[in-house]
Amino acid sequence: MPDSSVPNGTRGLHDETDTDRLRGILALDALSVGLVSALAGDRPLTEAEESSLSKLKEGRGELFFPDLLYAITHQYFSPVAAKKLWEEILRHKYEMSKALNRNAQIVVATLDYLANLKSAVHLPTLVNENHIAAIVNQSMRDGLTGLFNHTSCHELINLELKRYARHGTVVSLIFTDIDDFKVINDECGHQEGDHLLKELAATIEHTTRDSDMCCRYGGEEFAVILPLTNARAAAEIAERMRLEAMQIHTGGRTLTVSSGVASCSETTTTAHALVEVADRALYQAKHGGKNRVVVV
Ligand code: GH3
Ligand code: MG
Ligand code: MG
Repeated sequence: MPDSSVPNGTRGLHDETDTDRLRGILALDALSVGLVSALAGDRPLTEAEESSLSKLKEGRGELFFPDLLYAITHQYFSPVAAKKLWEEILRHKYEMSKALNRNAQIVVATLDYLANLKSAVHLPTLVNENHIAAIVNQSMRDGLTGLFNHTSCHELINLELKRYARHGTVVSLIFTDIDDFKVINDECGHQEGDHLLKELAATIEHTTRDSDMCCRYGGEEFAVILPLTNARAAAEIAERMRLEAMQIHTGGRTLTVSSGVASCSETTTTAHALVEVADRALYQAKHGGKNRVVVV
């Protein structure tokens, strides 16, 4: 269950797993400024960091140096240019530290080298890495409900599918649509409709686990990505969501939802393909009479 003290839309920013997901989406892998700084000698590396760095070095190959520089500058350099630049910056850091008689941090040395010696950076500004993470987090969210938006939903599914292809870790998807929402809007007004969307979003978040990713897929459609969860377990969660949704009432009506559940397989190698299967199950739920869960 999520921590209820965490405001809507910030769930996911504060735990390790989701920070990793953000990094995956930004193609940063595990290279944070903190790690690059330690690698450059600003502070000692922990054992865990050393092992994660050597894995990254091996895994990324010639892209390791562009990754290092991207973590600091948010600019892409070709592998050859990045390797050369990294060596020059390290030398510059050493000389700066000697001249200042204190450690010049790698970020400071990089900025001085690129802005003052190379004129490669113009009008630089300071932005804390956490601030960037917050901006990215905001851009991934739906403004009304605070859930992940359509675009990030696809990106998050694709990340899980990559994990499945690499490590065989299953992922399931629940696709949920409010029943007769048009009638509710017509009878109760658009504003009340918006209020219900927010209420259902909160219900979905409370019904799922912290490791699940809740998305507003479209107007009154929601998607929940459930890593390490098979179809049967996902269907149980979808059923719990269905029952919880019925606790929401408006204008003498009880809110009901229909859901389709799908799990990854050899044929669902893209988010698009998995969504299509879940959508087909949802279609069956609607045609079977609504207010139900269908698993394919
Ligand atoms: P079904 O049970 O088959 O899903 O019927 P439905 O009425 O829910 O589906 P339909 O696709 O006919 O209508 C969806 C409605 O959702 C129409 C649209 O105005 C409403 N809607 C979509 N986005 C929003 C929104 O952001 N706010 C509000 N209030 N309504 C929305
Ligand atoms: Mg719909
Ligand atoms: Mg609907």
